Amino acid sequence: PALINQIAAGEVIERPSSVVKELVENSLDAGARRIEVDIEAGGARLIRVRDDGGGIPVDELPLAVASHATSKIGSFDDLEHVASMGFRGEALASVSSVSRFALTSRASGEDAAFRIEVDGGKLQAARPAQHPQGTSVEIRDLFYNVPARRKFMRAERTEFAHIDDLLKSLALARDGVEFRLSHNGKPVRIWKAASDERAALQRVAEVLGEEFPAQSLRIDHAAAGLHLSGWVGLPTASRAQADSQYFYVNGRLVRDRIVAHAVRQAYADVLFHGRHAAFVLYLQLDPAGVDVNVHPAKHEVRFREQRLVHDFLFRTLHEALAQTRA
Ligand code: ADP
Ligand code: MG
Repeated sequence: PALINQIAAGEVIERPSSVVKELVENSLDAGARRIEVDIEAGGARLIRVRDDGGGIPVDELPLAVASHATSKIGSFDDLEHVASMGFRGEALASVSSVSRFALTSRASGEDAAFRIEVDGGKLQAARPAQHPQGTSVEIRDLFYNVPARRKFMRAERTEFAHIDDLLKSLALARDGVEFRLSHNGKPVRIWKAASDERAALQRVAEVLGEEFPAQSLRIDHAAAGLHLSGWVGLPTASRAQADSQYFYVNGRLVRDRIVAHAVRQAYADVLFHGRHAAFVLYLQLDPAGVDVNVHPAKHEVRFREQRLVHDFLFRTLHEALAQTRA
């Protein structure tokens, strides 16, 4: 199984930021209100994610790192209605096969915490540990036993920049959760949870920093079982980065052709052609209306009713943008 996990790891875990993604998504799935990410040497030396979520009962600890074990899906039927971020049950198995791995957790309602360690795919027995309610996962020496992968890791700065970007996209998705990020012991980001709309906008501005548009429109519209909310920036002469365009479907960042086309059309129709605008948009719809099971790492989705989604997005944005011209 260790070899199989290593192969799977190659698919899901490309670099330190992919590990951070899996761990933070697990924390979100566990209902965390606060997530702390500590990185050393761009993630090559250490990736630690700590949360205050529901934790893992001691008897389920070995399952957490077993391959294809997930607590999130009871049947294939559930696959249709996945609301959680992860559901394949392979992330921890994969990453623990290519690192020195430790997980410490205290489940809610328990008064003891336990720690398991996996070294090169070998699981050690759970031992008592100190930990408040929630979970900490520590990944040391990522890819230490996969030299080919280790060689592909870029400069510390580059890998950390990927982690920072990734955390931005997750922080934008969940503004009710506090995120902290440190690198080599220095705090780099602290994004406090937002409790109302004003705080939410402030947090978006904080997370995006200079990428945040000087002028933005609030979007909030629902029709035909679809709900679009968020902010769209008005294009400026100075070119905004294409990567300050965030579109979430049921809380997941998505890069989708249909979405991109609808947004581009709305801008092009109302405003000027060829200018880039930043936006942060959230589309909510019945999970049965969208297939997120296309690829674990790519940001792809497939809408059941593509036309409907496209037209809804186009009309909603078109109407909002048109008002600015009136
Ligand atoms: P998946 O998220 O697809 O279920 P993972 O390998 O990422 O698979 O995690 C395996 C299991 O470990 C999860 O289903 C969950 O039960 C448990 N788990 C992992 N991380 C956490 C966490 N931070 N808090 C609580 N449970 C966790
Ligand atoms: Mg997961």
